[in-house]
Amino acid sequence: MRKKIVAGNWKMNKTVEEAVALVEGLKLELADVVGVEAVVCPPFTALKTVSDLIADTEIKLGCQNMSDQDDGAYTGEVSHTMLKELFVKYVILGHSERREYYGETDAIVNSKVKKALSKNLRPIVCVGEKLEDREGGNTEKVVEEQVRGSLADITAEQFEDVVVAYEPVWAIGTGKTATAEQAQEVHAFIRGIVADMVGQEAADGLRIQYGGSMKPANAPELLSQPDIDGGLIGGAALEAQSFAGIVKAGM
Ligand code: PGA
Repeated sequence: MRKKIVAGNWKMNKTVEEAVALVEGLKLELADVVGVEAVVCPPFTALKTVSDLIADTEIKLGCQNMSDQDDGAYTGEVSHTMLKELFVKYVILGHSERREYYGETDAIVNSKVKKALSKNLRPIVCVGEKLEDREGGNTEKVVEEQVRGSLADITAEQFEDVVVAYEPVWAIGTGKTATAEQAQEVHAFIRGIVADMVGQEAADGLRIQYGGSMKPANAPELLSQPDIDGGLIGGAALEAQSFAGIVKAGM
């Protein structure tokens, strides 16, 4: 009943020219995909070009950050107005790299999530523990704090437009994937927290992606877990065949 969603987080990669080449490849590779939502999240500089290129396809457009403010004097920021003009549907918020390098706290992420939802943009809200948290037995504590903090005051109805991405920080870009069992355990835990926050029905409808060194080879096992509803893909999303391989594993 939950439609799987696989999103490519290109991070700070791809010039416009490179983005065109990747998207042309994706259009071919993803042409026969049914039943899985495929989303690409290029850097801001390539959004307009990618938006035009995928306009006649089923591929959806996302981006990697958004201001929690409306248009105005906020140097270097990008607003919901600008994103919606380009037909952006999804916005990745609270990625661990933004939390780690740009000081984004749960409160900041929460403010952005609220702004996105109020403007009909769908947030992909990232949470995940660091290696030291896992080794110290604090995975659940850390993840619960991030889920409750980043998604505070979101109603059950609004949750229909929310995607959560569980990304153990130690698995991002490291080649170390959480085992399907480790991931499933945390996904079920997150769904339980959301049930406690806004009720079982909203929790049952929530799509929770796994992220962290997901590849065509490990995607089938991860995506067959009952509470894993897709993937947020970094490295493997930079090449058309590997991204498409993961999308197809969700079919
Ligand atoms: P990775 O990145 O697939 O390269 O591990 C995932 C992410 O950070 O979203």
